[in-house]
Amino acid sequence: MSIKHYTDPELLEINTLENAIYMAMQNPSAYIDSETGTSDEQAFLIQMKNVTEQSGKKVFLVVHIRQMHHIEMLLGYENSRRLLAEVGHYLTALCGKFCVFRNAEDTFTILLDEGKEEHIKGQIKKRFEQDFHVSGNSISLNEVMITLHYPRDFCSLAEYRALYGYLLEAAQNSGKQIFFEVDEAVKKDYYRRNKVEQAVDRAITENRFEVYYQPVYSTEKNDFVTLEALSRLHHPELGWIAPDVFIQIAEKNHMIEQITDLQFKRVCMFINEHRDLMKKLFNIKVNLSSLDLMRSDCSSHFIRMMDDMDIHHDWIQFEITETVATEYNAGLGMVIDGFMAAGVRLCLDDFGSGYANLNTVMRLPFSAIKIDRTLLFDICNDKKRAMFYQSIVETFRRMGYSIVSEGVETEEEMSLLSSWGVDMIQGYYFSRPLPVDELLKLLNM
Ligand code: C2E
Ligand code: CA
Ligand code: CA
Repeated sequence: MSIKHYTDPELLEINTLENAIYMAMQNPSAYIDSETGTSDEQAFLIQMKNVTEQSGKKVFLVVHIRQMHHIEMLLGYENSRRLLAEVGHYLTALCGKFCVFRNAEDTFTILLDEGKEEHIKGQIKKRFEQDFHVSGNSISLNEVMITLHYPRDFCSLAEYRALYGYLLEAAQNSGKQIFFEVDEAVKKDYYRRNKVEQAVDRAITENRFEVYYQPVYSTEKNDFVTLEALSRLHHPELGWIAPDVFIQIAEKNHMIEQITDLQFKRVCMFINEHRDLMKKLFNIKVNLSSLDLMRSDCSSHFIRMMDDMDIHHDWIQFEITETVATEYNAGLGMVIDGFMAAGVRLCLDDFGSGYANLNTVMRLPFSAIKIDRTLLFDICNDKKRAMFYQSIVETFRRMGYSIVSEGVETEEEMSLLSSWGVDMIQGYYFSRPLPVDELLKLLNM
């Protein structure tokens, strides 16, 4: 091993393992993570640079401990640190001091020469099947193990991070022990996801989203009385990209505010081109994401846009999902007060899909409540489900809310809901979300 002897290490770029080891020997705490005794992130970056500059096959084994924040709540901060130290010591004893790196609070990476990984993985799997012991507590850990081969699976630090980030995300909702190998199926999925991300990015810069409108039917007026604006994205190669998918990507990349703005402008322009429509409709419903609502100027921002385009404030009703409403905080309260003061109404979306309760509903000044499609399941056959749905409708009616039933697909569902006093019905039974020309035809405009 050739170790260069630097006189002033801070002036020099350190880019070989040997130098890192040398530095660590000179200053034992340098490049060592003080909590776990493994090498730290800086040492990892040096190593990564080394690996990608040299030829030779390497394996990166990522060991991620899931739900570390739950464990911290359970054990307390000090004990959760001890637990991480236990894990760090175990991995170091198994693989060697300069081979284990701590990349994040709950994530370690082990760097191995190709061929050694199966043995090491087997050992770690066995160890994690048993409990760890901290201050008299026995803790069972749920881990994710990701095996990435260099240069087969990735060629740069950026590719490495993107790939393992993608796999960690995929692991969030799966079972106890999760093992990822990058096979063809993973690669295909990963590349599609990357393509979709790029497509969403491009669609924003090129303003390529469309708005479709789903008409909502009034059981009292026997006609359509409102519309929900829903975003659509078509890609020449990938086809239609589902809103759930692109909204999630846009939220993750903090691009959702741009989509909301572009789409809101489109909705305002649509109203202006067809102002007669608003003689027939109560309003048009527009979805807001939690990130839109986190902007401190959220209400004034959208109100200004409406004023600039001469849109009456009661022509728009913003939809806020149950999940957002449940996470009520002072900031959200102020945004909602801003909307109320300007006469902009709000609708609680997806009621019954998560954890909202009557408390959540009553805390915020909603005018309308949309009952989620999942609560409709089997109401025509299952008496208990039917009674549950009906009692929700009755309670909200007594409280003075206007009620929209979402996801109605059959005549049977439709007549049951009307007989229970639901005010509005939205669903494929009456119409799918439509592009503007088809919508105008349906509304006889
Ligand atoms: P959402 O707000 O709950 O919108 C209703 C969804 O239910 C729409 O899906 C609609 O097409 C679908 N739907 C309506 N009637 C029926 C039915 O009878 N049966 C079934 N199976 N589905 C029905 P879509 O358009 O795919 O949108 C999915 C979600 O994406 C929306 O759920 C909303 O959360 C989000 N989204 C769509 N556009 C936007 C947007 O511009 N901004 C934001 N923030 N979210 C959006
Ligand atoms: Ca909605
Ligand atoms: Ca909904």
